[in-house]
Amino acid sequence: MEPMEEKLGVGKQMIPVLIVGAGPYGLSLANYMSVMGQEFKIIGKPMELWKEHTFSEASLRSEMATSEIAHPQNAYSIQTFRTQNGLDKGQPSDRIEVKEYRQYIDWVLNALPYEIQPEYLTNLSQGSDCFEAKMESGEILKAKQVVIATGVAHHLKVPAEFSNAKYLIHSYYTKEIEALQGKKVLVVGAGQSAAEAMEICRKNENQVHWYARKEPRFYSEPLDLPKWIFNLVVKSAGLFRRMPHRLIQYWFSIFSATTMTPDHRAKLVNVNRFSSLPDLSTYDHVISATGYDYTLNHMNFLADELRGRLEMRASMPRIDKNFMSSMRDLYFIGPPTEMFFGPPMKFMIGSQYVAPRLSKQLAR
Ligand SMILES: Cc1cc2nc3c(=O)[nH]c(=O)nc-3n(C[C@H](O)[C@H](O)[C@H](O)COP(=O)(O)OP(=O)(O)OC[C@H]3O[C@@H](n4cnc5c(N)ncnc54)[C@H](O)[C@@H]3O)c2cc1C
Repeated sequence: MEPMEEKLGVGKQMIPVLIVGAGPYGLSLANYMSVMGQEFKIIGKPMELWKEHTFSEASLRSEMATSEIAHPQNAYSIQTFRTQNGLDKGQPSDRIEVKEYRQYIDWVLNALPYEIQPEYLTNLSQGSDCFEAKMESGEILKAKQVVIATGVAHHLKVPAEFSNAKYLIHSYYTKEIEALQGKKVLVVGAGQSAAEAMEICRKNENQVHWYARKEPRFYSEPLDLPKWIFNLVVKSAGLFRRMPHRLIQYWFSIFSATTMTPDHRAKLVNVNRFSSLPDLSTYDHVISATGYDYTLNHMNFLADELRGRLEMRASMPRIDKNFMSSMRDLYFIGPPTEMFFGPPMKFMIGSQYVAPRLSKQLAR
């Protein structure tokens, strides 16, 4: 085949299922499909958020048992990883440090029986009988069904009052924050990322101020709910779709971006908080730990024409109980679907609900 034809994917086989995103949601789905013997291709930077965009010195917010990469036979349990590596087993309710979690990720990635193409999709459009996915390299993949599992990366939220601030860093860019030394820094936000950013900055001898209009809400891990209620919320994620939209928005206004684990509560007891905006010009850097805003328009890797054809609910494409959008064979999963399947989707635990169901749906 001529090189140009090869680049365009001419003559290439149709991929039955293209999974876009190799985070916990994409990998969990791939694991279920792989065990079922279904054909698929998975693309994206493997566990990028966890390797590149979480603070090295922090612990996960979720407990060990709810932070595993899902697999139908539980092949990737953190307990097994610990046993195989001679580490203390710990309790399922313990929180694991990010450093150890990264070792666990490498252990999982080494064991996967399939390849991940570590590349971004730059444009997804609908052809006459399939989807066409243009990759960063220029390669074009043709796929019958596409699952979008791109997580938080495209949805960084920065309130308008900071968008012009000099030296603004969103808390997603943890490496830049970890590199700050001896600076005067304003951390904005009332959630866990704000608390973690303040702690890292303080350790690195920066002068840190904190601005948050609202008091954070503190909770015990993983949420301030008895275990059986938590499990019920996860198992009945599908019921969330039937709740009135107003109730869902009320829920989000309470929990989104203002929750924090008790260990950080203890550290914040004596920290002064500005509740109105200080003069930004007096700071070297402003860290915007202001969360994520799930909006279809931020998914600029979806062709305009494709985006324009999707039925919406508020700012995201409406999805049905099988995660399919109004466009046949196009699916959305992960945190951006929180408004349809509730709070479990915001965390890795939600993938344990999604992967078994969606793998069956895709096999039909
Ligand atoms: C700082 C922080 C801390 C968190 N802590 C916890 C926690 O302790 N416990 C918990 O359960 N949840 C936590 N979360 C929530 C977290 O988002 C989810 O748990 C989980 O990582 C979401 O998985 P995902 O697979 O949907 O997306 P992500 O983990 O965000 O992965 C997205 C994947 O998509 C790929 N991708 C993105 N764009 C493209 C593209 N255009 N083309 C191809 N691939 C693409 C990326 O390379 C990556 O592989 C945290 C979130 C943040 C931001």
